[in-house]
Amino acid sequence: MIPETMKAVLYYGPKEIRLENVPIPQPGPGEVLLKVGAALTCGTDFKAYRQGHRVLLGDLPSPFGHELAGVVAAAGDGVSLAAGTRVVAANSAPCAGCFFCERGQTQLCERLKLHNGAYAEYNLVPAHIVSRNVYPIGDALPFEVAALAEPLACAVHGVDVLQVQPEDSVAVIGAGIMSMLLIEVLKARGARVCVVGRGPDGLARAREAGAHQTVSVESGDPVGQARSFGGGRGCDHVIEAVGKADTWQLAVEMVRPGGKVCLFGGCAQGTRVSLDAHRIHYSQISLFGVFHHTPKYFAAAIELLKSGKIDHSRLITGSIPLDAVPGYFRRMHERSNPKVAVLP
Ligand SMILES: [Zn+2]
Ligand SMILES: [Zn+2]
Repeated sequence: MIPETMKAVLYYGPKEIRLENVPIPQPGPGEVLLKVGAALTCGTDFKAYRQGHRVLLGDLPSPFGHELAGVVAAAGDGVSLAAGTRVVAANSAPCAGCFFCERGQTQLCERLKLHNGAYAEYNLVPAHIVSRNVYPIGDALPFEVAALAEPLACAVHGVDVLQVQPEDSVAVIGAGIMSMLLIEVLKARGARVCVVGRGPDGLARAREAGAHQTVSVESGDPVGQARSFGGGRGCDHVIEAVGKADTWQLAVEMVRPGGKVCLFGGCAQGTRVSLDAHRIHYSQISLFGVFHHTPKYFAAAIELLKSGKIDHSRLITGSIPLDAVPGYFRRMHERSNPKVAVLP
């Protein structure tokens, strides 16, 4: 029996989220009501908590949280997933009919509306996501591990764009949770990884996660150190996972001639970056902006999680009950947090 109301965290504006009792919606045609098994906190949610996020959260108050896995509690007409199926749902799905979807660039879908509401007991998954971006996960994968599929899909996207080969040298700039996911994907590809970051804790975490070398940006010559990791010429690939103008510049300086740079970290609106245009042209450096994920990368991320190649123990550091979410965000929003599982 599905109860009539549930606890859900609602976002009212920067630094204002509340746990409320709200009606549990009935699934309409094509929709699925998911009983949330686990949600994960995400840096994007903390950013939204601090400063608001128009792309992530639409009208306010908004459901909150976007990484989740659970069990199908009820399905609307036309849905082939049976009640009781354990699934992971992406936080978006392409429309399949717009200019970008027709060209396979579904992450740029003109109707891409990000879905929220993971911090709740139930989540109503809209029909377009049910039809293109919900995946059964079988019985073995824990919900919180399956919920890693969303951020991991973004990491797989970034690495795939660079077409990283075994033994390639890759510098990852940034030592936050996204970098940890990138390290996992790069290790699975057999690449050699150098993490460039700030502060000893993040760099120690990166080494534990399997980075072959770490470089502190506070050291005398981070560019020189990253270039020597790439045999003196620079690294075959550089992934910028910070989203700041100065680290975008570092990325272009650390890559070898003929190498590729993945600009993975999103900068604030209005950011301008000045780059060495001479180097980009004469050293034929390729720059790739990478955003979000596509169903192909989401499915690939689930396969990686199922394969056991991803060490999730370092990625998810604990769990909190749903009731504790508002207090947790209040206490933790100023730090760069590892993920915790939110268990309803
Ligand atoms: Zn996320
Ligand atoms: Zn589209």
